[in-house]
Amino acid sequence: HSKDCVKVAVRVRPFNKRERAAGSRCIVSMVTSSITIQDPRESQSRRSFCFDYAYWSHSGFTRDRGGLYVPEEPGGAILRPGHVFQDLGEGILENALQGYNATLLAYGQTGSGKSYSMVGYGPNKGLVPKLCDRLFQAIRENQDTRQCQVFFSMLEIYNEQVVDLLSRGSRTPGGLRVREEQQRGFYVEGLRTVPCDSAPQVEQLMEQGTRTRTTAATHMNANSSRSHMLIILQLKQIFSKESITKQSNINLVDLAGSERQRSSGSEADRLKEGTAINLSLTTLGNVISSLADVAVGKKVVHIPYRDSVLTKLLQSALGGNSRTVMIATLSPADICYEESLSTLRYAERAKRIQNRAVVNESPTE
Ligand code: ADP
Ligand code: MG
Repeated sequence: HSKDCVKVAVRVRPFNKRERAAGSRCIVSMVTSSITIQDPRESQSRRSFCFDYAYWSHSGFTRDRGGLYVPEEPGGAILRPGHVFQDLGEGILENALQGYNATLLAYGQTGSGKSYSMVGYGPNKGLVPKLCDRLFQAIRENQDTRQCQVFFSMLEIYNEQVVDLLSRGSRTPGGLRVREEQQRGFYVEGLRTVPCDSAPQVEQLMEQGTRTRTTAATHMNANSSRSHMLIILQLKQIFSKESITKQSNINLVDLAGSERQRSSGSEADRLKEGTAINLSLTTLGNVISSLADVAVGKKVVHIPYRDSVLTKLLQSALGGNSRTVMIATLSPADICYEESLSTLRYAERAKRIQNRAVVNESPTE
């Protein structure tokens, strides 16, 4: 029974094309795990935050006398090469193998690097595929002490509706139901759960799920940056000598873009989205704030887990039975100042949350 805080990492991506074309200034700087953001309109106004880890990918820039990053000579050293997987992924894997639930959340504005960090693009594998590689490797290495089963699910929450990203059939109108059971907590009824025995198999399922997500978004004339994507890996380990079974759930969450969301659809869609799309993200913010208050000893009557689908499904990850890591992603550019500052504030609150993770083990039936 251990009490531990949510671990928070920040990651700053390089300028994108648009930012380079606009002649953007870099307003973010980093020293070890502390990060400073400068208000582009007020040279005196800067704020610093300290996190568990900080990763700098905005290479090719160096600091000028005023502390701002300016383009350095071509071929300059990368300022802060990160070890994202070693820092964040290995811990999650270790936890899962010990029988703890683990959760990894990516939070940030659209285009800031959430999917890059979680899933990755092409040869730049993200945390999830790397985690799967290592998981199946660990299973092979531990074959003589335990027998393991891995189950993979992938879903999307859009407009408070749950869509199974692995289901081939037509979508359930209204989405799948979220139910609650005493032991199990909240879960999605009828969600497809695929047994997996290799990392390539998981990657194939992830591709399938990502395709479904994009197609569904186009179909609904929606933007996938407004939906939350959740991958659930269930690991079951049967230790035959001890007659013990350990079960752990790993939640891997690519959250909707944190920017204030504007709708482009019809009036009816706008109304629906205005309340529903933001509901999960807003509620997540409220849950995190309440838990941060609890952590500093404030009296909190009620944690609003039940107010949204996302917070129901992440209940154990937030102040409960899980070891949880958040990666907050941001742009280094002056034009993203407001959003980046709000991401840093959000991440700072998340850092205060305390969880109580327990090993999930029971006698083998
Ligand atoms: P999000 O999922 O938050 O909307 P993406 O992960 O799709 O954003 O990233 C937007 C773009 O920025 C992508 O082209 C991605 O390759 C690039 N990018 C994001 N993070 C990094 C990084 N740390 N290093 C290099 N490129 C990155
Ligand atoms: Mg994305």
